[in-house]
Amino acid sequence: MAVTILIPTPLRPYVGGRDALELEGGSVGELLEQLAGEHAGLKRHLFAEDGRLRSFVNVYVNDRDIRQLAQRETPVKAGDTVSIIPSIAGGTAVHVGVQPAAPQLPKLSHEEILRYSRHLILPDVGVEGQKKLKAARVLLVGAGGLGSPAALYLAAAGVGTLGIVDFDVVDKTNLQRQVLHGTSTVGIPKLESAKQRISDLNPNVRVETFETRLTAENALDIIRDFDIVADGTDNFPTRYLVNDACVLLGKPNVYGSIFRFEGQASVFHAKQGPCYRCLYSEPPPPGLVPSCAEGGVLGVLPGIIGSIQAMETIKLILGVGEPLIGRLVLFDALKLQFRELKLEKDPDCPVCGTHPTVTELIDYEAFCGIGAEPSYDGAEITAQDLKTEWDRSADLLVIDVREPHEYEIAHIDGAVLIPLSELPTRLGEFDGHREIVTHCHHGARSLKALEILKAAGFSKVRSLRGGIDAWAVNVDPSLPRY
Ligand code: ZN
Repeated sequence: MAVTILIPTPLRPYVGGRDALELEGGSVGELLEQLAGEHAGLKRHLFAEDGRLRSFVNVYVNDRDIRQLAQRETPVKAGDTVSIIPSIAGGTAVHVGVQPAAPQLPKLSHEEILRYSRHLILPDVGVEGQKKLKAARVLLVGAGGLGSPAALYLAAAGVGTLGIVDFDVVDKTNLQRQVLHGTSTVGIPKLESAKQRISDLNPNVRVETFETRLTAENALDIIRDFDIVADGTDNFPTRYLVNDACVLLGKPNVYGSIFRFEGQASVFHAKQGPCYRCLYSEPPPPGLVPSCAEGGVLGVLPGIIGSIQAMETIKLILGVGEPLIGRLVLFDALKLQFRELKLEKDPDCPVCGTHPTVTELIDYEAFCGIGAEPSYDGAEITAQDLKTEWDRSADLLVIDVREPHEYEIAHIDGAVLIPLSELPTRLGEFDGHREIVTHCHHGARSLKALEILKAAGFSKVRSLRGGIDAWAVNVDPSLPRY
């Protein structure tokens, strides 16, 4: 019998789409090297250039986090299950400790008693618990896919004050999953849309809005006034920022993240367990893990994970049950399977460890390598210019690096479909002297394609700025946008 290696969704394209592989080996290191050897594309995801295992990839043996052990030497035996868990763009009863003591808890009105009657008759909530909910102040970072169900359930449950940080405007593509918003609020700020919906759901809830991007300059001031933070962001810089600010302020951070059909949830509360950095000390390099906008997400999934965040938040406020501290829940929607992994606090964690090196907020964009992205001056072409040049020279080669299912939604006539993941092995198909323009959906993947082509020696390569979306807007309005 061999060892089963579970492959997470973002890495499945590198192993022929499979979710599990059977390998023979005596240690974790042997298995991973074998895996990288057999599937070349996986190697750069698993190992850094110096050969060490990348720190945004965690490995578990039979649900045990092995980072505290000599990771690579950890022995495995036939029948074991090794899980690879990359970071994705989402103890005992805890009393948050900032609730006013019982005598200062707010009174409930007759309307509130009626509204919350199903809570009041629950022994673990009762009048006392409902008053704790009313006194609680919860900050939602992001009013998107995860923030939507979290905001709705927390408001319905009677959390007295909901803070929401967001600076986006409701867009039609949001409505497939962001159930806080509606067709009638497309085009208006998400905060305004959220406020309208929440006040209809429960006018007793006070909504405090922060129409801003959360930054190292404002995070401590915003978070300080709240008891609990529910993190529903979609990018790594904000994840690390929220984590560090919560650790510095001693606040629990109710974490959720989603990708395609998979979700993760945990409660990071450094006073009692690990923080996000204990789990993933470094972010993946920009672009290695696709965002929801690039990778897609099943509409119901954020509903499930965001609801778990709301549930955990309410448990923390009430001080009931076993919070998700020190545990990471993984949800696989396709198999309808929940798995739970134990998380250890990392004594060397740079922010919550015994000798922290991060004692104030830092530049998170730089930390996540975002400022360090190469400049693409002159490497991009606008949709109109592409149209003009292409009309003039039929010799121009346009390569569509999206996936076949995207090509089916809409495509530019004459473009050749070669998905980004296949590009490195299909370079022999083009003539190096031709002018090449790469394109994708919004213009990010096509820049990666451009880098691959340039590195392979193709000199006349440009990328369509704004992708097929810009083409649909500026050149061919008959194409559907998606
Ligand atoms: Zn930590």
